[in-house]
Amino acid sequence: MCFKLVSGPSPNLWLGQFDIFPKEIFVHGISTRHGGVSGQPWSSLNLGLHVGDKAEDVIENRQLFCSSLGINGEKAVTCQQVHGEQIARVTAEKRGAGFRDIADAVPETDALITNEPDVPLMLFFADCTPILLADPVRRAVGLAHGGWKGTLRSIAAKTVAAMQREFGCRPENMLAAIGPSIGSCCYQVGSEVAAQFEAAFPGFASQILLKEADNIRLDLQRANTLQLQEAGLRASNIAASHVCTACNNSQFFSYRADKGKTGRIAAIIGVK
Ligand SMILES: [Zn+2]
Repeated sequence: MCFKLVSGPSPNLWLGQFDIFPKEIFVHGISTRHGGVSGQPWSSLNLGLHVGDKAEDVIENRQLFCSSLGINGEKAVTCQQVHGEQIARVTAEKRGAGFRDIADAVPETDALITNEPDVPLMLFFADCTPILLADPVRRAVGLAHGGWKGTLRSIAAKTVAAMQREFGCRPENMLAAIGPSIGSCCYQVGSEVAAQFEAAFPGFASQILLKEADNIRLDLQRANTLQLQEAGLRASNIAASHVCTACNNSQFFSYRADKGKTGRIAAIIGVK
C-alpha cells in the first residue's frame, strides 16, 4: 500500500503518508479532517484561512498538524492558490508566509519549490489534486495544486520543469506522490471541459475521460500521473493515492460532497 493513514501523536489526529519518500531526507504528510478544534462546518482540522472559519482555530489546527510531523508550523510557506499555473521558488526568507494571515502568503501561485532544508511547503485542498515532488539527489522538493484548471495547464509537468531549471534535478531521479482528490467515480464534467482536455492531451484523453452515454467523468489523478510520466518520471517513482475525497468524505474535506461549505486539508513536504 503506497498511501496509508497513520495516527499522529495527538488524540484522533490521523495523517496520510506515502512510503515513496525517504524519511531520512524528507518530511511530508497529508492531513485529514480529524483532530482539530474548528466547529461545524469546518470540523474539525480545517487548515484553510480563506473559508470563513475563525483564524485562531485555523492557526491552532495548523500548529497541531505541523507539530504531529515534527515541523515548526511557523516555518511553513503557503501561497494564495488561484487555479493558475504560477510556480514560485522559495527560500528561508519566506518562512511563515501566510501561516497566520493569508495576506502574507506568496501571491497568486499554485506551486512552490525549494532546495533549502527546513522550509516546508504547505498547500490546501478540498477535492483538487495535491502533487508532491522530491529529488533525493539534489535534495529539492515541490508541491502543486492541480484542480481541473491546473491539470489542464500541466502544472505538475511545469513544476518538474521548474525543479530541473532551478535545481538541476533530473526527472529520472524524482519521486512523486498524488494525494487524495475527487476521484473519477465522483467527478462529472461538462462537454466543454472534456473538449479542452481532448485538445490539450490528444495522446491520453481516452485514458482520463470516462464516457458513458451523456455522462463524462474526469480522472485527475490519472491525468497528473500521465503528465509526470511524460515529463520524464519513471512510472515506478509515482505513487498515486487512489483515494477519492468525496467517497471518503468522513476522512477528508470535499467541496462537492460537502456542497461548498467545508474546510481544507493540507499537503506538506520539506527537505529535512
Ligand atoms: Zn468517489
